[in-house]
Amino acid sequence: MRGDDRPTFLRRERPGIRMTRNVVRREDLREGVVECPLCGRQIAIPTDHLIVYGVVDRLTAENADAVECPACSGVTFVEDGSGCLDH
Ligand SMILES: [Zn+2]
Repeated sequence: MRGDDRPTFLRRERPGIRMTRNVVRREDLREGVVECPLCGRQIAIPTDHLIVYGVVDRLTAENADAVECPACSGVTFVEDGSGCLDH
């Protein structure tokens, strides 16, 4: 029984790492529907407030590491398990 028909880029569970801090899901970011977990307000245009820790040609919802809430200035990490939180 395979039981894993999801694309591998979607999620890779890493034991020992708990995502208990404030995060938003990348799929929500793609759809432009992101609610700030810090203040509860919806971020109107999340793609205008993306943060990436690294060098990228173009900052998009696909490679962003975090999003900054324009209402409370809180930074929320984007969760997708692609390893972008590696140091
Ligand atoms: Zn906020």
